[in-house]
Amino acid sequence: MDYNGSPSHMNVLRENIKDLIVFTDLDGTLLDHDTYSFDEAMPALNRLRKLGIPVIPTTSKTFAELEVLLQELDMMSPVIVENGGVIAIPISNDSPTSPQQHRIGDFNLSHTTVDYTSIIEVLKNIRAKYHLKFRGFNDMDVAEISEITGLNFEKAENAKKRLCSEPLIWVDSDKNLNKFENELKRYHLSMTQGGRFWHVMGEASKSKAMKEVVEIYQRKLGENLTVIALGDNANDISMLKSADIGVVIRRKDQSCLSFESGNKIYTSSLSGPAGWNAFFMHFLDNYPTS
Ligand SMILES: [Mg+2]
Repeated sequence: MDYNGSPSHMNVLRENIKDLIVFTDLDGTLLDHDTYSFDEAMPALNRLRKLGIPVIPTTSKTFAELEVLLQELDMMSPVIVENGGVIAIPISNDSPTSPQQHRIGDFNLSHTTVDYTSIIEVLKNIRAKYHLKFRGFNDMDVAEISEITGLNFEKAENAKKRLCSEPLIWVDSDKNLNKFENELKRYHLSMTQGGRFWHVMGEASKSKAMKEVVEIYQRKLGENLTVIALGDNANDISMLKSADIGVVIRRKDQSCLSFESGNKIYTSSLSGPAGWNAFFMHFLDNYPTS
């Protein structure tokens, strides 16, 4: 594990260890890029669970995918899905409800941005106007999504249940990609890069949604929280930069995200869930909770 923090920063962490809150990207970070397995992260996940430290999935995945994943992880927690476009809070979490929220299963969902139908409409218009070549999930059937992502049919079906963002594969030139991005801005849409896809969405980000969830925990636990965020791709930069501690998880090809940041950034030596696990084992070993 490489890290570059100052000793004084570590002392601050030691005092605050009981009020840690973790925001984690999924694909390529907590989940293996190819197999989507989180097995290698289980030791650390169990340790965090025993300590009562919240782990908030913060992902480009859909709410439908997260409902299944939370069951697999045997976890109940808020989730940030579709790159920050939707925040879902367990209803048992005594969360206030508002007219902007709607209920699905055991969760209240807040949409922070424009809906999926509007995004698809804009994409159709831009494509027709400039003859651009891209394929979004809306253009694909479930079998094609399954083939591209490696998800089984049922999981691919859940990945297609979008609320406010569209993953797409760009098959046109870089020059046209710039044109596309500029055109999206005219409609107040933006684009961010994940592990496999570009994601088109409204003016949402993982960091904006993360701040909202931090505020919920601050109301419950007090102001003094230390926020750790983990991620592996460009769509994670905003949350890695706004957390107290950002953890860049190395990719399978050994490359890793690089960016300027004023805060503390660790980079994992191992990739994916093994790197995730190693970070927390090291971190919790060095910053005891009592
Ligand atoms: Mg990722």
